[in-house]
Amino acid sequence: MAERIPEVLQKKLSDRLSFYDDLGIRLFYKDRSAAQSHVGSSRSLQQHSHEETTLPKPARKPEPMKLPPSALRAAAKGEALPKVTGPSLFEAVNKIVGDTLLKIREDLGECTRCKLHKARNKIVFGDGNPKAQLVFVGEGPGHDEDMQGLPFVGRAGKLLTQMIEAMGLQRKDVYICNVVKCRPPDNRTPEKDEVTTCSPFLLRQLDAIAPKVIVCLGSVAAQTLLETNRGISHFRGEWLEFRGRKLLATYHPAYLLRNPSAKSEVWKDLQKVMAVLGLEVKKGKSA
Ligand code: SF4
Repeated sequence: MAERIPEVLQKKLSDRLSFYDDLGIRLFYKDRSAAQSHVGSSRSLQQHSHEETTLPKPARKPEPMKLPPSALRAAAKGEALPKVTGPSLFEAVNKIVGDTLLKIREDLGECTRCKLHKARNKIVFGDGNPKAQLVFVGEGPGHDEDMQGLPFVGRAGKLLTQMIEAMGLQRKDVYICNVVKCRPPDNRTPEKDEVTTCSPFLLRQLDAIAPKVIVCLGSVAAQTLLETNRGISHFRGEWLEFRGRKLLATYHPAYLLRNPSAKSEVWKDLQKVMAVLGLEVKKGKSA
């Protein structure tokens, strides 16, 4: 049986090998005379003379993290590192195992993660085709939605339905959801912490559906997905990108109820969407 190298010596040997490994030296040869004179050398090391010997591999140091040039420049100037925009570990795992709307709904459960749960009647998760090519994202449920547990079923919802039908589609062809799943009291705008808490579920929904086009209805949806504070008027009707998908922001149907003259702008936006989806654009038709 081969003699065990004492632990202290093993450690020293490993450290030394690590040092050589860092220098790029990975092959070792032993000299018989040196080996014979070495007190405590293992018998196995004395079996061959001037031949390649396999030594225990040093513990590998983890590879240093490679930063992109923009991060290196920022670090050199002492600025904050740019935000990492890749998927979180959670998202990455979900991608591997295959997330589904059903699983996301199960994970949401009877959610109490933010204060909006206190006044809600029903969670409004989303509705429509789980494999839709087109997803509409609104801000949050209103009174009717909260009562029924379905998105866009009130007056603004009826207008959205008309818009969808004017595109030559039906509600069951698309998917409709919101940034927050519970109604904000008095239909106020969702607060930042509420959006931050709830929006990961929206992101998972979008990843699971994998639509060709995402249409953001109003500022909150657009600002959440685009991670911007800019007003919607700066980018309404422009094609933007969200995680490799086409995104277009337009006015919320509730805004159109208050400002009917903006309908023609929204119709122009939706015609752009129709063109990308290969839907026939009928001239002069609007919701
Ligand atoms: S808004 Fe979203 S995070 Fe907040 S309680 Fe409702 S489901 Fe949960």
